[in-house]
Amino acid sequence: TLATSTSADLFEIHRTDTPVPDAVREAALAAPRFGTVFTEHMARITYSHGQGWRDRRVEKYGPLQLDPATAVLHYAQEIFEGLKAYAHADGSVWTFRPQANAARFARSAHRLALPEVSEADFLGAITALVQTDRAWVPTGGETSLYLRPFMYASESFLGVRPSLEAEFLVIASPVGPYFAGGVKPVSIWVDQEFHRAGAGGTGAAKCGGNYAASLLPQQQAYDKGFEQVCFLDASTNTELEELGGMNVFVIRADGSAVTPPVSGSILEGVTRGSILQLLTDAGHEVSERALPLTEVRAGLADGSIREVFACGTAAVITPIGRLASDDFDLTVADGEAGPVTMRIRTELTDIQYGRATDRHGWLTRL
Ligand code: PMP
Repeated sequence: TLATSTSADLFEIHRTDTPVPDAVREAALAAPRFGTVFTEHMARITYSHGQGWRDRRVEKYGPLQLDPATAVLHYAQEIFEGLKAYAHADGSVWTFRPQANAARFARSAHRLALPEVSEADFLGAITALVQTDRAWVPTGGETSLYLRPFMYASESFLGVRPSLEAEFLVIASPVGPYFAGGVKPVSIWVDQEFHRAGAGGTGAAKCGGNYAASLLPQQQAYDKGFEQVCFLDASTNTELEELGGMNVFVIRADGSAVTPPVSGSILEGVTRGSILQLLTDAGHEVSERALPLTEVRAGLADGSIREVFACGTAAVITPIGRLASDDFDLTVADGEAGPVTMRIRTELTDIQYGRATDRHGWLTRL
């Protein structure tokens, strides 16, 4: 698919008048730590009730000035997205299923009572920004330009009601390979005390508040020596839901795959959906169904669950080597990355980096 250049054409480009020297940019691109280096520009659209979305522009990356009464600072009316632009060997730059991120952003906006951004504006903003900051798309290895669209309630008003003003921005950050030393299994703390989301809450929306709720449990797990937290459903505290920023899959000895259903309290990952498709293509039986902790514990103990992995845009697929909580501590098979996990990871990254046929039409050229 080719991004509609017309939607990008609606953006006025105001280039920085103090461009970063090539040598400085190349040094920044050499070994960026995730989310620490940003490109020179940002895309932006401004909303106000009555006028709708206006002033589509690309401008110099820089601080935002906020009135202390700005609604987002008080009531967290804010949403975001995360996707990547990949450089292919021929120099072209592509994104992976950006329409899915646009649709999820619209669903998040609806849940947070924010104005919706059309798919054309969402893709137009990304396209205009990546075209302007083209020199910042890293090449080689598993590098990419991480794109962070976000929207916040910008009205200065302390009443608790939906903001009448909003800002939509896209910033971009070059990222190196997530696993610098090769893909390595992580250890997971299954949290039986805290939840990130509940029935009827905002778990299915990509809003900052969900992540704020996950920080303390994540920190406590880290202090216990674990890398990530897996949350259980808040209603029964018995079923695996997802990690703080990734969905979860188990692979059984018979090759079948299970991932928790999109129940309203987990985020519907673009990577999750793509993996369900790739597993189906490869002949695996897949089911989206509740995944009781008791079943996972028994399956790991008796060997009927062979692989467990987490998935999301940032790390693509992360093998899970150990699952533990207050009352159990289990190794997944031999604790190493499993064969299905690694095969699917290769298949997906090969499509993203243009090394394999894009048979599902997942790529959009920028
Ligand atoms: N769950 C949560 C809570 C997340 O933050 C993310 C990352 N966006 C995911 C799952 C994975 O989603 P995706 O595959 O679209 O990156």
